[in-house]
Order: sequence, then structure tokens, then C-alpha cells
Amino acid sequence: MRPDLRDTPPGPDLARALYDYVVDSGRFMVLEVSQDARIISANGAFRSRYAGFADVRGEPLSRFFADEDDSPLDIEPGQAHEKTVARVLRATAEGEPCLFHAYPLDGHTLLIGEVADASDHEVVARMGNLTLDMSRLVRDLRRANRDLARANQLNEELARTDGLTRLANRRHFLERLEAGVAQARSRQHRLSILMIDLDHFKNVNDTFGHAAGDRVLVAFADLLRALVRVSDLPGRLGGEEFGLYMLDTSLDVAMTVGERVRARTRELRPLEENYLPSTSIGAAEWREGEDMDALMQRADAAMYKAKAGGRNRVVADG
Ligand code: GH3
Ligand code: MG
Ligand code: MG
Repeated sequence: MRPDLRDTPPGPDLARALYDYVVDSGRFMVLEVSQDARIISANGAFRSRYAGFADVRGEPLSRFFADEDDSPLDIEPGQAHEKTVARVLRATAEGEPCLFHAYPLDGHTLLIGEVADASDHEVVARMGNLTLDMSRLVRDLRRANRDLARANQLNEELARTDGLTRLANRRHFLERLEAGVAQARSRQHRLSILMIDLDHFKNVNDTFGHAAGDRVLVAFADLLRALVRVSDLPGRLGGEEFGLYMLDTSLDVAMTVGERVRARTRELRPLEENYLPSTSIGAAEWREGEDMDALMQRADAAMYKAKAGGRNRVVADG
């Protein structure tokens, strides 16, 4: 060990000095590897043994490593940093076998290798294989878990989503609204909702067919999604009826949003100039002591007032 290392107290400085020592000593081969299994840096000891001193930065790690069957290297993109697997790798060079140990390092992987003792060849080979088997098992397990988690997530998403418009379905919308009302009650948040109904929608189906009607619904849903904030929840409550739930929102703001939805809907042309869509919108703000059903009823009543008043308009309850 270098004398100055003995005098350095434990801590980051010593760690750094030790690291530099290992990198420079010529005894160990040191590689830093990115998450996509490419070499970020390699010290001279590695380059002299495996690359004739050439620059290997950016090279895929698999160029230099393989397991016994020459199958591809066992470091997975995106997984190399995980702490749970410490791998032992065998480099693919003629002559003396070298063993590399992989360590997680700041999202990268650090490989430190040395020439294996010749008398230990068999042990080394077996150890290497065992570790590879282990890491393969862990990898397969992790992959299976990931697939399962993905499938579950997809299922949950489907159960929450309306198949045609991809908006929240009625059940999910009501669940979220119920939770929103509870939140408003306990923390004195404001909360407003819009009830939105497409006008004379039956005519669209009767005149242009059901598929055209579906196109209008999808176009409207896309507009709604684009207009609202991330904290808002637009949902399809039924046929041509939609809801928008907005936490931390006063009736005034809800009216402004409603007016924007109304105006922009009027500009939609899902069936070209043959059809000018319009909406009737009711807005209501949650009141102290009120439950979700009462709030929905007030918004609904306001929406019917908008219908009665001539449609293509926004009406506030209260
Ligand atoms: P109003 O202005 O009073 O709301 O009139 P309206 O015709 O929109 O109201 P009504 O409730 O009489 O008709 C709603 C229509 O929406 C009837 C139904 O055929 C249509 N509809 C409901 N769900 C769907 C759907 O998923 N796709 C299509 N294409 N049409 C649908
Ligand atoms: Mg309608
Ligand atoms: Mg309706």
C-alpha cells in the first residue's frame, strides 16, 4: 500500500485514494460499465490484456466477456446497478483466466478483475458458473415478476377505463369523486364538478350512423383530456355524458373551464362540416356537509337547465 494511504483517515478521501490506487496499480483490471452494458472507462491493466491498449470506451461489454458456453453476458441493460446481485464474470481471453467482480456504483457497475490463481482454475470455473447460474435465476425471476406486475397494471387500467374513449369509466370517476369529497370535507379543500352532455346526439347516430357517433365521442374525449389539468379527472359517465372533477377549484374557475370546453367543442369537426357539435354543461361546487350524490344532482340539474335554456351553454348551480 502507498504510504500516504496509511495516513489518510477513513472516509470519502480514503475511498477515493484507494480507488485511484486500485485503478493505477496495474494489478487489478478496473472497468466502469453503464446501465446499457457499455464500457464507460477501462484502466490500463484491462486495456493491455484485452485490447492491445486500444480505447475501449463505448464498446459493448459482451465483446470482452462471456460465460462457458460463449452465451451473451449476464449483465442486463437497466439492471446492472441493482445491489441484489453481485456477479462474478469470466473474461474471454486466451491464457490465464481472469475473474471480475461486479459492484454497483452510482447507477453504474464497477468491474474489478484480477488474474485467477492457476492452481485454482477448476474452482474458479465452478465458482464462475455457479454465480452465473445464480444471476440467471435471479434475472429470470425478476423478469417474471416484472411481466406479472405489468399484466396486473394493465388489468387494473382496463378496469378503470372506458373502452371507447380511454377516459375514466363511470365507476372509477365516482370512486375518485367520492375520495375527493372526503378530502374536501376533512381538509376544507374546494372541489367542483362539471356534467357535460352532447346535444342532440341521437341525431348524429340517426343521420351518420353509429360508427360516426363513436368518432364524435372519441374526438370529444380527446379534447376534454387535452383541456384539463393533470390534477383534474375527466370521465365518461354513460353514453354521451361526461364528467369533470376538479379538486381545489372554485365555481368561478369551473365555469371558466366549462366555457372553454363548450367553445372548443363547437370548433371540433369530427364529421367535417356536416355536423357542428355542441354541449350542455352544468357546474357545481361542493358545499359543506354535502355528500357526493347531492353534489352530482346539483350539477345534473344545472346541466338540464342548460338544455332547457337552448343547449350549447354552461349553467352554474345555485
Ligand atoms: P339532448 O340534447 O337532449 O342530450 O339529446 P340527445 O339526443 O343527445 O339525448 P338522448 O339521451 O336522447 O340520446 C343520447 C344518444 O346517445 C342515444 C344513443 O344512441 C347515443 N349513444 C349512447 N352511447 C353511445 C355510444 O357509445 N356510441 C354512439 N355512437 N352513440 C351512443
Ligand atoms: Mg345528449
Ligand atoms: Mg344524455
